[in-house]
Amino acid sequence: MIRRYRDRILIATGLLGWMSFGALGCSDGQDQPLQPNLIFISIDTLRPDHLGCYGYSRETSPTIDALAARGVVFDKAFAQASWTIPSHMSMFTSMYPHTHQVDRQAASLPESIPTVTGALREGGYSTSGFASWLFLSERFGFGRGFDRYEVLKATRDPENPRLRISPDAGTLVELVSGSFVSEGTPGLDKESPFFLFLHFFDPHLDYEPPLADAQLFDPQIENTDLGSYVFLQDYVKGTNRNMEPIPADACEEVRALYDGEIRHTDRQLGILLAEMELAGLLENTIIVLTSDHGEEFFEHGSMEGHQWTLYDEVLHVPLIVVFPDGRDAGRRIDTLVQSIDLAPTMLDFAGVPQPEVFQGRSLVRLLDGTETWDETSFSQIRRYNEKWALRTRTHKLIYTGDTKVNRFKLPVVAGFELYDLTVDPGETVNTYVESDSTSTILAARLQQWIGERAEALPTDVPSISEEERERLRSVGYIGN
Ligand SMILES: [Zn+2]
Repeated sequence: MIRRYRDRILIATGLLGWMSFGALGCSDGQDQPLQPNLIFISIDTLRPDHLGCYGYSRETSPTIDALAARGVVFDKAFAQASWTIPSHMSMFTSMYPHTHQVDRQAASLPESIPTVTGALREGGYSTSGFASWLFLSERFGFGRGFDRYEVLKATRDPENPRLRISPDAGTLVELVSGSFVSEGTPGLDKESPFFLFLHFFDPHLDYEPPLADAQLFDPQIENTDLGSYVFLQDYVKGTNRNMEPIPADACEEVRALYDGEIRHTDRQLGILLAEMELAGLLENTIIVLTSDHGEEFFEHGSMEGHQWTLYDEVLHVPLIVVFPDGRDAGRRIDTLVQSIDLAPTMLDFAGVPQPEVFQGRSLVRLLDGTETWDETSFSQIRRYNEKWALRTRTHKLIYTGDTKVNRFKLPVVAGFELYDLTVDPGETVNTYVESDSTSTILAARLQQWIGERAEALPTDVPSISEEERERLRSVGYIGN
């Protein structure tokens, strides 16, 4: 069975102009293009400024750079949260965290909220997902709409059963190539288009890449000890009341280990894409590559600021879209876009109608110039304390809404922070003044958005096994 766009959907989504170049595949004499396959790649904790295609001097990312050269690169993409669960959920639901409400470990996605995966499956796609970290487990709602969904589990060292071996990018690629690539797509017949979600976790703490990958960036590195949470926890905001700055040479070594993780992931991604190409799976396939958040290397006084802050180093994410016909190769988009825009964009690519409740906008309309774009991004976290942020091209306003002490051992200052990004891109000088017009206008806008928070939704509390609890503890996600 060959699935096609329907005219009413083409008109409804504005996709006709976008696709009428005809290269995504036409068939049997009619002008209707085939629905493209979609590969959605999320590389956890990936800072764009550590990728060659975003200007990094180290060769961390030859595969991703090659994808970028063949596709469209978005220079100003921002996540809706600075940690894994709410940020990914915003990508899948096209909703802000305070709307989908899966913004803490004790929440799962209500059945009433639609996902991009479910919409694609209803639109004729077979859907497969492979994730590398338990925060993307089905219990939070991430498996929703997938014909097949797997989350890698840690294994035990056979020689020392007390030692836990975390799966890495190589494990993920082995699984995907041994199942999805060799066995074909599950769910529907093989002529159906596929949606494949891949989640790599390696650039997240712990930073323990293959030593050779780290040595590419620091030949003196002899082991990965400084990349372990055991070492870094003393420098993570909120875990140490009397935190000293990390020594400069240790910080540089940690950066090299982080870069080694990116290089390792990039190589594994290259292996998988080469296998998929050989298997003919990339012929009519659009690739979307992004991350759920960035990371902090002491820009704001801490290691691992993600999940604790809303500064740019933890919200700015890479976003690359590659078309099979090379359309828009090398194009760069400077417009500010959000992670919630990804779901409507992928549905537009597929010619599948969007659920009305989606809050993002299709990037197709930005790429083809059919929509005037409001360049504002909103983000929030409700984890150790509650923060909300609004970012425009020129300013960032952050509001810390409470001073609740949870595991947070440092004093939390409630109130506003305003940064003029045109002169202070590092967000170092708080210029918020209540009577100032910029402060007033942006604060009113942020408060309006906060006020749009959805009514509390009924939600199940996911349970966690003792083994998972141990894994979470090992990277500081729950206290000892
Ligand atoms: Zn993450």
